[in-house]
Amino acid sequence: MTRYISTRGTAPTLSFEEAVLAGLATDGGLYVPEHAQEFSMAEIDAMQSMSYPELAYTVISRFTGTSIKPEVLERIVAESYKTFRHAAIAPLKQIDTHTFVLELFHGPTLAFKDFALQFLGRLLDHILDKREQKSVVIGATSGDTGSAAIAGCQGRKNMDIFILHPKGRVSEVQRRQMTSVADKNVHNIAIEGTFDDCQDIVKALFAEKDFREKNHLTAVNSINWARILAQVVYYFYSAVALGAPAKNVSFSVPTGNFGDIYAGHIARRMGLGIEQLVIATNKNDILTRCLQTGVYELEGVSPSLSPSMDIQVSSNFERLLFDLYDCNGEAITEMMAEFKKNKKITLSPLAWNRLKAEFTACAISDEDTKKTIATTFNTTGELLDPHTAVGLAAAQRVRKNTSIPMIVLATAHPSKFPDAVKEASTITPELPPHMKDLFSRPEAYETLPNDVSAVKKFIESKI
Ligand SMILES: *Cc1c(COP(=O)(O)O)cnc(C)c1O
Repeated sequence: MTRYISTRGTAPTLSFEEAVLAGLATDGGLYVPEHAQEFSMAEIDAMQSMSYPELAYTVISRFTGTSIKPEVLERIVAESYKTFRHAAIAPLKQIDTHTFVLELFHGPTLAFKDFALQFLGRLLDHILDKREQKSVVIGATSGDTGSAAIAGCQGRKNMDIFILHPKGRVSEVQRRQMTSVADKNVHNIAIEGTFDDCQDIVKALFAEKDFREKNHLTAVNSINWARILAQVVYYFYSAVALGAPAKNVSFSVPTGNFGDIYAGHIARRMGLGIEQLVIATNKNDILTRCLQTGVYELEGVSPSLSPSMDIQVSSNFERLLFDLYDCNGEAITEMMAEFKKNKKITLSPLAWNRLKAEFTACAISDEDTKKTIATTFNTTGELLDPHTAVGLAAAQRVRKNTSIPMIVLATAHPSKFPDAVKEASTITPELPPHMKDLFSRPEAYETLPNDVSAVKKFIESKI
């Protein structure tokens, strides 16, 4: 039976279903499975003949325990990936002899977050159905998470979703992807403030016990284990396409909140032969610095060409620390308290060595991001979005064995970030056919001041 424990060690142990609903643990930690799950070589070999939904079922069912019936999980997974507009779901594109781009942007909102949120929206609806419960999903977004969460939750009968974005501070494509969704259960709020203000409001609402419990508040940010889990699947899918388990592969992952790359770490722990796992960051490089120096230290965030990675504190890094410290919840609690106080923690020599043994890290400037977009376009005709370009540039800089296939995760479609792509390549990337009319769709959103009680009042008036 798969149970879930908190990285800080004192919150109650939960079932899969309970961990999905809980989001953050009551001790402030993140839920992780109590025991690692491993596939044998034969089991990984058998994945070669599976479709994406079959493989997703195979991976995810290892972690659900008795929470979800097999036939229900099968249905949820099948429906989740039916919304993708490529028959391969996650196609691999070769860009030179040993380098591949894994296109994770064929979902409804053109970013990899659809892989997790199409699944999580349906999973939550099923869990709520079973419990005869309604839930209020609240989230803050700086761009991609909001639209993917809305696309995953729209029209689901057991939930209302409220997404806060900083007014005037998300791109027009990103805003329209959220505000043009017309379902009754979708509520967009533009906050007169920054992304951090939005996040603070969401945190404050979750911290109000009465409000949280009465409305069954649920989080869909990447602290939710089900999101990580859904992302483990494409590591296996792409690796077996290139010869795993007989051959190893490497991955380079454009990283912000450490969710996507943490899924790669889980895939490796499940038995996938991953040679190098590259943490690719932009100039907001707390993770790269930590790997190089053993010190995890906060610096200010500065805007970059890859805005979805402009993050200071990577919440999922706590899950990795938990592994690096042999699941010692007490040690993690102390470290997190220290980080809160001093904005800085120093890893133990053992933990730092483990970090360096498992990951390679590299920070890429905006200048090099643009160069990579231009060079890739000129040599292959492929347009990369700026996040993917960070991944490719980092891979090229730090790869050790050039004959091992390097898979760069393409986290967004170039048309989501048209300005940066045009500046780098002179080409304006076009929205895919199903989104061509995005700019003529009617929008709906409420503008509210940067004030918790105003948001609370609005939510209560809608549910
Ligand atoms: C969210 C996002 C990332 C960062 O993913 P994490 O899981 O937070 O590391 C990278 N690229 C794009 C396009 C994203 O939307």
